[in-house]
This record gives sequence, C-alpha cells and structure tokens, in this order.
Amino acid sequence: MLLFDQIPALKNYLRDSRHEGKTIGFVPTMGALHAGHLSLIERAVKENDLVICSIFVNALQFNNAQDYEKYPRLFEKDINLLAKYPNLYLFLPEHRTMYSETPTLKMDFGQLEQVMEGAHRPGHFNGVGIVVSKLFHIVQPHRAYFGQKDLQQCRVIECMVRDLSFDLECIICPTVREDDGLAMSSRNLRLTPEQRKHAVLLPQALFLARDLIQKEQKDFSVVRQRITDFFENTPLKLEYFEIVHSENLQPVQTIAETSRIALCIAAYLGEIRLIDNILLPE
Ligand code: AMP
Repeated sequence: MLLFDQIPALKNYLRDSRHEGKTIGFVPTMGALHAGHLSLIERAVKENDLVICSIFVNALQFNNAQDYEKYPRLFEKDINLLAKYPNLYLFLPEHRTMYSETPTLKMDFGQLEQVMEGAHRPGHFNGVGIVVSKLFHIVQPHRAYFGQKDLQQCRVIECMVRDLSFDLECIICPTVREDDGLAMSSRNLRLTPEQRKHAVLLPQALFLARDLIQKEQKDFSVVRQRITDFFENTPLKLEYFEIVHSENLQPVQTIAETSRIALCIAAYLGEIRLIDNILLPE
C-alpha cells in the first residue's frame, strides 16, 4: 500500500490520477480503525477508482488535553488493516505537516454548533472545519465519506461544503454497532471491562426513547425526563440527551415539528466521553 506523509507528494500523485480520469474517494479518520471506519472505506473503495484514507489525530479539535494525549494511536495495526484494499492509499501526516503554523482563521457554524457537541466542546467544530477543509484542498476528492455516528459533524461538514462551494459529494454512512448495540468508537478501547459492560446503557437509552416515541408519546419533555431517570444510579454521567430536527439539529418539542428527528446522547464513563444517536423514522 502506498503511504504518503508529505502533502506535495500526495498532491502530485492525485493530480496525475485525476488527469487519467480516475475518481477519488476520501475517508478522513483519526485512526485506531474499527469496523465502523472499515464500512466507510469499503463503500469508498466500491464507488471510486482510488481512495485516500487519512489518519490524523487533529489536536485542533480536542478541547480536552488529556483526551488528546490518551486518544488511541495504533498506526502499525491500522496500516495492516488497510493493506488488503488494492486501490486504497494512506495519508498519515504529522502535526507539523498539517499545521506549519497555527491557523488564524476561525470557523463559526452558527446555530448548528450551539447545541450538543458544539455547546459542550468549545472550539471543537472550528478544529473539525479547519482540518477537513485543509484535507479537502489537499485531496480534492469527488466523494467524501462520513459516519452518522458523528451526526453533528456530518451536518457541520455539509454546511461547510455548501457555504464554501467545495466541489464534492458528502456521503453519510450508517453507524456500525457491536453485537450488544454499542456504537463502535476508537474511544471504546479506553474502557475497562467493567465500563465496557455499562457502556451498553447508552444505546439502550436511545432505544428506550425510540420505543416511547413509537408508542405515541408525543410530548418530548416526558421522553427527556424518562431518559434522565434511566441514568440515575448507573455509573454513567449523562451530559445531554436531545431530540432534534434531523437536519438543522435544533431541539423539537413534538413529532409534529418535523418529518424526521434525531435522538442524540452524550455521557461519561469515568473520564471517557461517548456519544451516539439514532434517526427516526429509521
Ligand atoms: P474518527 O476516527 O472517530 O474521527 O472517525 C472517522 C470517521 O468514521 C467519521 O466520519 C466517523 O463518523 C466515522 N465513524 C466512527 N465510528 C463509526 C461507526 N461506529 N460507524 C460508522 N462510522 C463511524
């Protein structure tokens, strides 16, 4: 597998491929790859002549220094996992390659980032926006693949693509879950076996909320209260549970306000923060 760690070499290679008429798919990641990442990569590999997967733990999007330091870095294992895809190339830049200088530009996504992740992780979506736009400029893909697992990130990137006229298609792929329902995440690697058992409460809370809504609970304040109660006397510390419009991510009070809603949740297990969401109707 070809591995690039420098921007000019990757750009030159892709320029030639583009001239040959090849379509380019792009899957940005922070590594510690799991089946969720691989689902994006497999779709990209099917839909494009060649695919770039980037692995870059982007300091700019971490609002918590300890979370950044402890983020799993398993580059050798990742390289081995990717080696089996014949038309896939890896971009593995160092921090100084991506940020020869600290960016001056700040990205503000307005209402989209005033809820949920944006509200609880100040500066997070600025960091996401900066790195993804830099990567888009470097790779210039025809299609870029993202996971619904990070729904708000998907909406922020779709907004950025629209507002800045990036000439590419964003493709959102479904969340891949463990057998017990836990959404796959690189941060799951940091859970102790005991915490891992409790982590299943996160999707269970979402499924409980879904059942209540499907059983005609029209008043969402009742659903919100049930989910808050659900976490009482558990080791999970609920940070937020939100019922929002699936596109603009603003909170909704009843199902009548939109045809599609998203149930979104974030909770701490010790110092590890996990997020998840589901869309309704599915
Ligand atoms: P990350 O490495 O966590 O930044 O994730 C890289 C990409 O993989 C993002 O678009 C994520 O939304 C996506 N992703 C992460 N976990 C999952 C999952 N369980 N299922 C599907 N996509 C995922």
